[in-house]
Amino acid sequence: MTRSAILFERAKAVMPGGCSRNTILRKPHPIYVERGQGCYVYDVEGVRRIDFANNVASLIHGHAHAPIIAAVGKQLQKGTAFTVGTEVEIEYAEHMCGRNAAFEKIRFVNSGTEAVMASLKAARAFTHRPKIAKVEGAYHGLYDYAETSQTARPENWGQPERPLSVPVSQGTPQRALDDVVVIPFNDVPRALAILDAHRDELACVLIDLLPHRVGLIPAARDFVGALRRWTEQNGALLIFDEVVTFRSAVGGAQQWYDVQPDITALGKMIGGGFPIGGIAGRAEVMEVMNPLHRPAPFPLYGTFSANPVTMTAGHMAMKLYDREAVERLNALGDRARSMIGEVIKTADVPACVTGRGSIFRIHLSPDAPENYRQAYLPPERAALLSAFVGHLFEGGLLMVETATGFLSTAMSERDIEEMADAVFAALHKIKPY
Ligand code: PMP
Repeated sequence: MTRSAILFERAKAVMPGGCSRNTILRKPHPIYVERGQGCYVYDVEGVRRIDFANNVASLIHGHAHAPIIAAVGKQLQKGTAFTVGTEVEIEYAEHMCGRNAAFEKIRFVNSGTEAVMASLKAARAFTHRPKIAKVEGAYHGLYDYAETSQTARPENWGQPERPLSVPVSQGTPQRALDDVVVIPFNDVPRALAILDAHRDELACVLIDLLPHRVGLIPAARDFVGALRRWTEQNGALLIFDEVVTFRSAVGGAQQWYDVQPDITALGKMIGGGFPIGGIAGRAEVMEVMNPLHRPAPFPLYGTFSANPVTMTAGHMAMKLYDREAVERLNALGDRARSMIGEVIKTADVPACVTGRGSIFRIHLSPDAPENYRQAYLPPERAALLSAFVGHLFEGGLLMVETATGFLSTAMSERDIEEMADAVFAALHKIKPY
């Protein structure tokens, strides 16, 4: 028995499924990491893999990046969490507000889930309206209202012109589902018709500009523009979930669009490897959290929010992710997608690659999906993708289960070439399909 197999047996005895998070569960057992350095992870068996998962997009500089470790080490000596504020929190808030003119004020929380939850609650508190609108299939964390419409059962989707607010989790109450309006991705006429039907009840429209579960295709300019206009005209707020996409530009993927949302939900990489979430936006909206107004319309607490360890790590990570670093990483992402495109051609298989900037996703179909319904994989296609990701894994790559990769600044052109070779070999192994 391998060490990983033994660890899995121990893990299953004390955690459902042997894990605390339902992420990468390779069969017959998951791997366990011994350590990470730069863009490589080493498992307990001593196998090295290039890490394209990067803790699901949260490690923009890879593992154990020396300047972050040094800064955090210093902070650890001074204490890790206090009931009151610290200067490092203020410094980091100043840095983040300086990255994007739409970030007039910011608050830190502990996860992307919390950031989205806080954004939706802030929108309700600001508008005094109950409902939220989201894109069909888009993942935004675990908050009841944000996690609907990602069910893997097509019979529950409803008609394309009126997608249903169906739960992904049986723990979601029907009353929450009733307050969620689901719109199709990149389909302006249908989206606007649905929004119009709930005109006076909607607090906000929540979108991810590059939603990975919807197929990792960018939101269309006219879609984003139409939602901006509709929300402005109808007294609702526009919320961008940039928990993943903030890496796209200095101030997030929204800077690709020249559209300013009212609120941006942040998380993942802005924590420099530590748990974080953030909510940034218009000062007028953010005022709903202001405890100097007693009582605040939306009181936002959080025991570990803005703890100085996360603030220190996040600030260092973001200082190092300046314009030059962003441009270099996005260029490496372009290179990754073009090399994957080339190996797909050489392997002569019906596959394609989507994504933008430092994110890519490989699809085992000739054409890129345009929305969640097209990105959905029936069981036999899902099994094929899983086998493909398994071969990537055996070939020395760590990727998330949808064959999605997130680059880190620790990667070089050589790592991208090694990745492309592994993709080529994995495509051959599943051929023909
Ligand atoms: N929004 C998006 C777009 C995400 O991808 C995720 C996490 N994968 C979240 C929100 C939730 O973040 P967290 O896992 O930190 O709660």
